[in-house]
Parts: sequence; structure tokens; C-alpha cells
Amino acid sequence: MQQQVPVFYDEYGNPFIVLREQDKKQRITGVEAIKENIQACLYLYNTIRTSFGPKGMDKALVSKDGDVTVSNDGRTILDHMEVENQAARMLVELSKSMDDEVGDGTTGVVILAGSLLEQALPLINKGIHPIRIADGFEMACQHACQYMETISDRLEFTKDNIAPLYVPATSCLSSKIVNRHGTKMARIAVEAVLDVADLDRRDVNFDHIKIETKVGGRLEDTELVQGLMLDKGISHPQMRKEIRDARIAVLTCPFECPKPKTKYKVEIDSAAKYQQLAQQERDYFHRMVQLVKQSGANLVLCQWGFDDEANHLLMQADLPAVRWVGGLELELVAMATGARIVPRFEDLTPEKLGHAALVREVNFGTSGKEEMLSIEGCANTQAVTVFIRGGNKMLLEEAKRSLHDAMCVTRNLIRDNRIIYGGGAAEVACSLHISHMADQVGTIEQYALRAFADALDAVPVALAENSGLPPIETLARVKAAQVREHNPRLGVDCMETGNMDMRTHGVFETLLAKKEQYLLATQVVRMILKIDDILKPAPAPA
Ligand code: ADP
Repeated sequence: MQQQVPVFYDEYGNPFIVLREQDKKQRITGVEAIKENIQACLYLYNTIRTSFGPKGMDKALVSKDGDVTVSNDGRTILDHMEVENQAARMLVELSKSMDDEVGDGTTGVVILAGSLLEQALPLINKGIHPIRIADGFEMACQHACQYMETISDRLEFTKDNIAPLYVPATSCLSSKIVNRHGTKMARIAVEAVLDVADLDRRDVNFDHIKIETKVGGRLEDTELVQGLMLDKGISHPQMRKEIRDARIAVLTCPFECPKPKTKYKVEIDSAAKYQQLAQQERDYFHRMVQLVKQSGANLVLCQWGFDDEANHLLMQADLPAVRWVGGLELELVAMATGARIVPRFEDLTPEKLGHAALVREVNFGTSGKEEMLSIEGCANTQAVTVFIRGGNKMLLEEAKRSLHDAMCVTRNLIRDNRIIYGGGAAEVACSLHISHMADQVGTIEQYALRAFADALDAVPVALAENSGLPPIETLARVKAAQVREHNPRLGVDCMETGNMDMRTHGVFETLLAKKEQYLLATQVVRMILKIDDILKPAPAPA
């Protein structure tokens, strides 16, 4: 028998139907819900695992409109995946927060969280309550963080001796596409950060580092420019292309006659009237140019465009100009050169001008149409631009992301110079410590502690697997060597050099980042283990 659909009426008497959504939802509760979430997370974990480490693979991500992104960066890969399960989306968010907080280790954090969930599964099957597992993980995480402090080293560097900083930046770039020019890229990243860093306050303002890309040239042509680079050119071919001791007017008002806001009509019925109108327009332009000249400016950056007449007048007045400069770039120029952004010509005064030692147009390509504006020797700050060149947009985008990661590593070291060795060395050391500790815990958390230690092993295992080494054998060898030599610096020798000491390889990460990785992963795993009820739309009938 067909069910009657109830019809309701709104205050205007229009009928409407209420669909009982609840009937159409599927509900999973208890352990089944947790297991379903873990399975979804494991799918993500297994996908991203292969791109971990110096020999990790890249992923080609194709969007709905056919755009291709090739990346090795955990956050970028997860960002481009269409993830439906809520718990799995938490892993995507986890990678994002790692990127925002630390800037590196975005794959590692997902590997750790995924492997913790994998280890939690048999414990749930054994009948241990998920909250007890989560508590055990948290306890283990705290102990691991404390233990890492005891085995950490310090990376000593000063403003005059920045060479030690090149090592972690190079190591960070080693798994990326740009690694062929890793040393040069690492140098650029470190120098860019140190140019804008405040070493006394141990802080870096990334707003003063601009990363600009331009298709063409080779990756090794990438350079660090002391100043700002704008993807713009001087508006008239006959204007000066090189301005020394630049006094810059930064304008947000257009170089054109004002238009009445209401509808208007101008009737011109004689040549004289036309001449008069044209003259008025010319006078108006003249006045605008005059006001800029009077302020003492010798370069104009304008947020808006201006027509040929204004452009010609500016050229005649020997006033080089740049049009259509984006709002963000305008702000950067203002910040770096000490200019004030001026919304009206009448407000322009000499104090509101920005200053730079040299502004010049740089041309690329054979046609000469590919120009950029370089603003060097800015008055206010040490703003710098990393100018990346490369064969195509895809490569440039990945290079940009990789350089950002290397800059974050350098910034983290400026904040706190304690380091911990990579290549899975820290994980193996913590794993040994936690499993030793587990034996002394008399409560049920003991199982969770052991599971945490096993989960940490996933990092060296993944590194070995991705480098083509036998995973279990390699892990056993590293563990045995660490115990035998009491050396927490031994890790997976991904490059097969015959030496497991990560200090000699220069493979290390900041203690800050590593601790954050453990804390964030444990937090998210706890959240996922606490979800015991899933309401979702029922699958459509086939
Ligand atoms: P993430 O996005 O998490 O930084 P990566 O793909 O960059 O992931 O891989 C980083 C991992 O690779 C770290 O655990 C690091 O210690 C390790 N690693 C990097 N270079 C080497 C190397 N030469 N030998 C061994 N391990 C390395």
C-alpha cells in the first residue's frame, strides 16, 4: 500500500511537504562506527604512505576541469583528494594544521596518525574500550615528547655563520622535485629567511618574503632579489625603465575624469563645444599629473588603469607609471618603501611617497613582452623576493611549495635550535623507550603504550619500503644497532651509503616540529576513537 505523504500549508496557504529525512538515514553505532572510521582513514594513510621520504613517489592530481597538479607534499595531495568520510577528513585537516603551525612534516603526521589507528584496531577487537586506548596513546605521546628532549641536539649558528642552516633546508628539499638543485634552493630559502629575520626576538615575518614565479628559463635561474618583484611593466614603451633614487606615489585613484554617478547626457552640436569638452578633459589630466609632479614623485604605482591620453601625458611629463597593481602588492610596496596609500590626488604630499634605491623593468623572453618590475633597496624593511623560474606552471607551483617548506624549517630553527635526527631515528628511539616503559605499567593502558611504540615503527618501515629496502629487516637492524651502540641517531639509510648515522647524513628535523607532529597526530586519533555514532544518508536504491 502506498504511504500517504503529509501536506502542510504555510501562512500564505501554499502547500509544502515535509520529507522525513530520518527514515532515509543510515545509522552505525558503537564499535562498528569506530571501525568504519578507521577503515576510511587507513585508505588515506595507504595512499599517502608511498610519497613519504627522500625516495617517496609524487602524485599527479587531476581536478574536475582537467588541471594537473604534481606534488609530493602531504597537504597538497590530501587537499586535492575528494574525501567523504568525516574521520578521514579530520586527517586532511590534520595535515593542514601541521602545515599552518610548522610548515613541514605534513606527510609524516598523517603516517603517524594512520598507523596509530591501525594499531588501535586489534585492541578494539580485543575488547579494550576506545577511551582507554586514547588515554594510553596520550600518555605515550607525553613520554615520547619528554624523551625526545633528552636525546635532542642543538644546531649552533649565528648571523655571520649561517652555513649550518643549509643542511636541514637541503634535507627538507631532498624528497621534492627541486632536489636536483637542492643546494642552491636551500641557500636561497635560508638567505631569504635570514634577510627578514629578527634574531634577537627569534622571529621571522613571512609577510616580507614574496615568492614570485615566471614560466620560462630553468630552475637553476631561480634567484633571491633584495627587494620586491612585481609581475608588471612600465605603462608606456617610451617611459624610463630604470629609476634611481625612486620616490614612489602609491595611488588607489584612477587617472581618468570623474564620471557623475547618476545618468547623464552631453549634447554636442558644434565643433566648438567638442573642442571645449576635449580641452576640459586635457586640463583635468594635466592637473592630475601636475599634482603628482608637485609632490616630488618620480614613479607612480596605480591600482587602476588609465587611458592612452593620460598615459601619453605621463610620458611627456617624464613620470614613469605602472597600472593595475593588485591591492596586496600595493600594500607590500607601501610597507617596504614606507609609502602611504593615497586615495585622492589632492592628498598627495612629499611625506606620503615611498623610497627605493632603484626601480627597474626587467625583461624576459625573446619577444620582450615578458616584463617584471624590480624594486630594490627599499627604505623601510628588508623585503626580499624569491624569483623562481622553470619550464612550466606545474613545476613552478611545486617549487614554490617546496621552498616554503624549507623556509619554515629555517624559521623553526631560529625560534628554537634544538634538533632531533630523522630517517626514522627519533621514532625508533622513542619506540624502544615506550615499549620498555610499557612493561612497567600495570594497568590496561599497557597495551596502548605498546601499540603506540609499534605505530612509531611505521615511519622507518615506510622510509625503508619507499627506498626499496626490505622493511622489517631494516627496522630490526636499526633497532638492534640503536640498542647495541646506545646511539639514538641511527636511522634508515635510504641512500644506501652503508652508514646509518643520520648526523653524518645531515638528516634532522626540529624538535619543535617533531613534538608538534606527535601531539597533533595523537589528538586527532583521540577524536576519531571517540566517535561512536555515525548518521549518514542511506545509499540510493540500485
Ligand atoms: P614530510 O612531508 O612529512 O616532510 P617527506 O616526504 O619530506 O615528508 O619526508 C620526510 C622524511 O624523510 C623525514 O622523516 C626525514 O627524516 C626523512 N629523510 C629525508 N632525507 C633522508 C635521508 N637522506 N635519509 C633518510 N631519511 C631521510
